[in-house]
Amino acid sequence: MSDFVQRFHFSESPVRGELVQLGDSVEAVLERHQYPERVASLLAEALAASVLLASTLKFEGSLILQARGNGPLATLMVECNHRRELRGIAQVSESWTEASAELPFSELFGEGQLAITIDPDHGERYQGIVPLDGATLAACLEHYFAQSEQLPTRLWLAAEGGNAAGLLLQVMPGYDTAEDADIWPRLCQLSDTVKPEELLDLPATELLYRLYHEELVALHETNAVVFRCSCSRERTEQVLLSLGEAELRDIIEEQGAIDISCQFCNQEYRFDPIDVEQMLRGGTGASRQLH
Ligand SMILES: [Zn+2]
Repeated sequence: MSDFVQRFHFSESPVRGELVQLGDSVEAVLERHQYPERVASLLAEALAASVLLASTLKFEGSLILQARGNGPLATLMVECNHRRELRGIAQVSESWTEASAELPFSELFGEGQLAITIDPDHGERYQGIVPLDGATLAACLEHYFAQSEQLPTRLWLAAEGGNAAGLLLQVMPGYDTAEDADIWPRLCQLSDTVKPEELLDLPATELLYRLYHEELVALHETNAVVFRCSCSRERTEQVLLSLGEAELRDIIEEQGAIDISCQFCNQEYRFDPIDVEQMLRGGTGASRQLH
C-alpha cells in the first residue's frame, strides 16, 4: 500500500498514535500546478497533517486546513475527508521571489492565520484559528490542539520530492498523570528522535519499532489514502447560482458561455446559455437536491 495511515496505541500507556506516509496522492496534488519547491514541500506536509487530523474525527465529513496571510506565500489549503480522500492547493503572492524560499516558516505568510475547519456532512461546522507564528506547521497545529482539544497532542511532519509523512501522538481522554506522570514526556522524547528520512522511508512497523521498542505498541488497521477532488458539476452550479441571476446573465451576454476550472484538480466545467437558463429555473434537479 503506497499511501496509508496506520493507527496504533501504546498497550501500557493511555496514548494513541497515527502514522501517515504519502506518495501518489501528494504527486497528484503537486503535478497539477507549478509550485516553487519550498511551497510544494509545505503543501505536502500540510496534506500529511490533514490526514492525521481527519483520522481523529469520529463522524463523516471533512477536515480543512487553510493558511492565509499577506506574505509571499498567500494561501495554502488542504482537505481530507473521512474516506481519506485528499486534495490541496497553494498560491504564492506577487511578492514571491526566489529569496522567499529561504524565509523561516513564521515569515512565509507574513501576518497570517491558520484555520482548522471541521465540516461534518450532517451537523455544524467548527472552526479553530491560530496564528502562523510557530517555527513549523507542526508547531502551529500543536498550538491549535493546545487551545481547543485539551488533550496533549504532538505532531512530526516531513516532506521531500513528492513524498510526505507524519506522526501524531495524542493522550487519550481520562489520562491520569498520577499513575505515571513520565509517560507522555517519555513518548514525546522518543518521537523527537525521528529523522525526516525515517519518517518518509521506513516501513511503518520498522519505524514504530525503531522509535518505541521499549514500549508495547498495538497496531490497529491500516487505511489507504487517495487523491480525489470533491468538485462536481452540481457544486459548481451552486457557486455560480450564488453570484445571482443578473451577474450570470451578464457573463453569458459577454462571453457566450461560462467556463470554470476547478483550482484543485483542473477539471473544466462549461455552462452554455441553455445550461445557465436551466440552472436559473432549478431545472437540472441536481441543484435542488443540495438544498
Ligand atoms: Zn476538482
